[in-house]
Amino acid sequence: MLDQVKGFSVTFRHLFKKPVTQQYPEYKRPVYPRFRGRHQLHRHDNGLEKCVGCSLCAAACPADCIRVVPAENTADHRVSAGERYARIYEINMARCIFCGYCELACPFDAITLGNDFELSELSREALVYTKPMLLAKPVRRTPSQAVDPFDTPAQEMERVLGMYDVVTATNPEGAEPA
Ligand code: SF4
Ligand code: SF4
Repeated sequence: MLDQVKGFSVTFRHLFKKPVTQQYPEYKRPVYPRFRGRHQLHRHDNGLEKCVGCSLCAAACPADCIRVVPAENTADHRVSAGERYARIYEINMARCIFCGYCELACPFDAITLGNDFELSELSREALVYTKPMLLAKPVRRTPSQAVDPFDTPAQEMERVLGMYDVVTATNPEGAEPA
């Protein structure tokens, strides 16, 4: 009997306390700054994709869940700032352990892990995230919104292509040419 009274006293004490329940999904608790969630593939300011299809992220992935199939850029079909771009870029989220190695391995900051943790799907197939699902939307800029005041869109593309040549094609170490 004494135990029952003790038990009910605990219940009554909590009846008048402020509830700790958080009303998800209406309220989403902020994540810690170093939280690693859903991946995103990024673009340069001129809209070109940062990913050049080098597959370094796939090589670094311990869960073997990244698939990259590159293709060549051409003069009339330029997708990225490099010689190649990722024609197919897939991440199998069912296997990903969110270690962040892909982000660390990427030489162009093309892929990062963001804060989005809502990744549940109804099938394993749906957990294979494709490039259109991962790729950032292009940002449309007017000339007055150019990143550098001297950059027209054409100049900006030239600058990005020049950066790429310095880092990869002419100098794999990424050092400035003499
Ligand atoms: S976070 Fe880790 S496991 Fe997930 S795709 Fe990147 S390297 Fe692979
Ligand atoms: S995300 Fe980075 S490391 Fe992966 S293929 Fe693209 S450029 Fe290479």
